[in-house]
Amino acid sequence: MAIVVACAQAYRVRAIAICAVLAGCGRPEATPIRHAPARAAPAASAQPIVRAPVAADRPAAPGGPVVPVPGPRLPGGIAPVAYDLTLELDPDREAFHGHVAITIAVAAPATTRLWLHAVDLEIAGAKLETAGRDEEVTVLAADAASQMRGFVLPHPVGGETITLVIDYTGHVSDLSGRTGKEEQGLFREHAGGRWYLYSQAESVFTRKILPCFDEPRWKPAWRVTEIVPRAQVAFANAPMIAERRLPDGRRELRFAELAALPSYLLAVAVGPFDVVDAGKLGRAHTPVRIAVLRGEAKRVGGAVRELPKIVDAIERYFDAPLPVPKLDLVGVPQFFGAMENVGLITFDDAMLVGGGDFITVTAHELAHQWFGNSVTPAWWEHLWLSEAFASWLGERVARSLGAALPPALAHRSRAQAFRADEQVDAKPLVHPIATSQDVEPAFDAIAYEKGGALVGTFERFVGEATFQAAVRAYVAAHARTSVTSQAFLDALASAASPAVGAALASNLAHAGTPVVELALRCDGDAAPAIVASGRDGVTIPVCVRFPAGTGTARACFLAGASTVQPLPAAAACPAWIVGNDGGRGYYRTVWSGIAPAAPLAVMSPEERLARGDDATIAVRLGELPIGAALAELTALAETRDPYGELAALSIARAIDPLVADPDRPAWTAWLAGWFADRMTAAALGPPRSLIDHVVRGQVIGLARGAIAPATLAAVRAAYARRSDGRYEAMLRIASARDPGALFDRIVHAAATAKTADARDEALEELGAFPAGYASRVVDVLLDPRFAAAQVWPALAAMLSRGETTTSAWRAIHGRLAKLLDALTAERARDVIAGAAALCDPAARAEVVADFTPRVAANSEDERALVRALATIDRCIARRAAAGDVVRALAEKPAPAPGL
Ligand SMILES: [Zn+2]
Repeated sequence: MAIVVACAQAYRVRAIAICAVLAGCGRPEATPIRHAPARAAPAASAQPIVRAPVAADRPAAPGGPVVPVPGPRLPGGIAPVAYDLTLELDPDREAFHGHVAITIAVAAPATTRLWLHAVDLEIAGAKLETAGRDEEVTVLAADAASQMRGFVLPHPVGGETITLVIDYTGHVSDLSGRTGKEEQGLFREHAGGRWYLYSQAESVFTRKILPCFDEPRWKPAWRVTEIVPRAQVAFANAPMIAERRLPDGRRELRFAELAALPSYLLAVAVGPFDVVDAGKLGRAHTPVRIAVLRGEAKRVGGAVRELPKIVDAIERYFDAPLPVPKLDLVGVPQFFGAMENVGLITFDDAMLVGGGDFITVTAHELAHQWFGNSVTPAWWEHLWLSEAFASWLGERVARSLGAALPPALAHRSRAQAFRADEQVDAKPLVHPIATSQDVEPAFDAIAYEKGGALVGTFERFVGEATFQAAVRAYVAAHARTSVTSQAFLDALASAASPAVGAALASNLAHAGTPVVELALRCDGDAAPAIVASGRDGVTIPVCVRFPAGTGTARACFLAGASTVQPLPAAAACPAWIVGNDGGRGYYRTVWSGIAPAAPLAVMSPEERLARGDDATIAVRLGELPIGAALAELTALAETRDPYGELAALSIARAIDPLVADPDRPAWTAWLAGWFADRMTAAALGPPRSLIDHVVRGQVIGLARGAIAPATLAAVRAAYARRSDGRYEAMLRIASARDPGALFDRIVHAAATAKTADARDEALEELGAFPAGYASRVVDVLLDPRFAAAQVWPALAAMLSRGETTTSAWRAIHGRLAKLLDALTAERARDVIAGAAALCDPAARAEVVADFTPRVAANSEDERALVRALATIDRCIARRAAAGDVVRALAEKPAPAPGL
């Protein structure tokens, strides 16, 4: 899955967040927390049996006992072979009926009990079909946490294939309500006066669509039939092969059998869509259609034009045709991004009609047709095989098509990965996942951004051709099967070398940013050498660059525990070395001894950004004293090169949370001095280029409080002359003649917005107001005209921005009970996570007092609280260790204006 683009949106898993980069994106850090160990399988004993129908997530009977499940996952030895599924779907209704016949291979020894996943399904009846005879099956209720139902067969089965037939009713969640979105199982959306129905089965939501074996290790065949109202268009994963009219006027659509489909990729869509034929594309002439909301057909021209070259680029990478019999791209209003279902990719509708990054997102989802769809991670701990590879190849293809992001934006996903890797409880890319509840949090910046960056690092290290050979061999050897991470490690080891395979394995198992410690050794007549070691036992593929002759040379090597890499191309002791050639290797360099820092003039934009990352991480980890951090910041700022400035601003953002409130005016004024060129009326006018836009956005985010009133007046006048009158919310607010009136206007615009997007955009702007407005944002959150979840992102943005952290917390703390009442449970947990931005002991004590009585033992909330407190503690310790910030600032005064 891919892509969330909005900035102030609370953290969404599955995001390849390409934020607009303005003001640092103010999003609370939210790497998922560690999970409780797997529950031990209860001993089999006399189990109470309850007759169907019983809802899966309710107790078996009023006050009755529930049935112990076999373990956190479905037992082995019993595997689905095929599903014959009929769904009666009507977008106008919030319930649906399902009928499924599951062909199941049951190994010996014989059993009378089967377990299937099922959530929120009312099972009307189940039977065993044998030799034309139907026998009654008893349905058990399990505890809600297991998300399983038991089926007791009339006699033992074993060493044979059986057919279990189940009739049931399920529910379609409705996104137009006030409770926030739930894109799980079947959901429906209202747009243009009509309802549209969709599915989202990944990660563990197929069990809300039918009782099934909902784990990706199984890849059975699926034969799907949909019964829909007469005037609706319906889609499934496979092409339609038959249609007939039912006596009641509905249509019954039968779709071709699809082999080897893991449950999480099942998909349907029904609605009054406009369907545009995009032709037959690629090597197998795959029929492609684009389905958008009624009335939007004329807006898909751009997507239709781009598709052939995206399909061509992807097929060329694999040297294979798209592994799907047909492809439909279906638009969903207000979707989180896109989802790669086999043959039926769902997109946020805006992306299909000209909004968003269509090429990168489509390339990501098409890459999934191999990574994940054809070669499937056998269990969710191997999710990187799907998301890391799709992220990497999606961006690679976009780059090859000239649609890549400029370095300033492309670099953000690397920076985001580092940030996720620095969390107090960062997990390795491959980490154990025990229960269904642990699956969704695995869709995080580690799986996407770190995974993608790591794959790219190894590709550059072994060379594009060798890496491509490994990918092609892996995909060919494991097509239509489920695999573990070892499958790719083996392919890489044989295409490159066992050492490279082992190096990747060490990175997959390692939590935290990989760090390579480097020292330059120049002694006597021997060729100069680099002594390198990967911290914490990680083996890092390092590439360095240094002067040689009249140009530069490059050396790549695996840095293990202690590696000596001679630099024969360097005639003498090199004057400088870039420790991360190209700036895109997923590691941080730390020099000891002689630190032959490269002059910024010889560094590429990416290398400058990487140098900024090195210092940024060192500040965040408390490894770089404030004086040294400021020295690096000013060296980069002095370049007056936008990439140098961006690197400097990254360090400034790492320092920002360490600045106590009383020191903040001095800090802001100091920054304004160093970035004076960016804070003139001319520089704050309409930006001339994207990179200018990015740099100034960050300067405004950090130092807008220091912009001179006369400059703000000039800015206001300049923008008033522009027809659209739109510019960065932070600057617009700072330059407003009456910010209070502007606040009211924005709230009014949100309340009367015609679309949810426009409403959310307006509410997001509230997060850009200064400290004095935090309490008013809470007022809006409690305003019955809005769902609290719609306003929360603005408050979260205030919490995460140093300038407003304290006031936002004061406002939240003052009305906590009301605020938590208004939010859904998940958003309420975001409040706990947001408190992690605090950095002083008094506020910490309030967090403890506020939340400890409210969180249940061993709950997600409790783990969020533990994590937030650990993050606060770390910040308090670093603030103390940073020393006197004001004095350090005084030692590095800004150059006089004009110099
Ligand atoms: Zn994806």
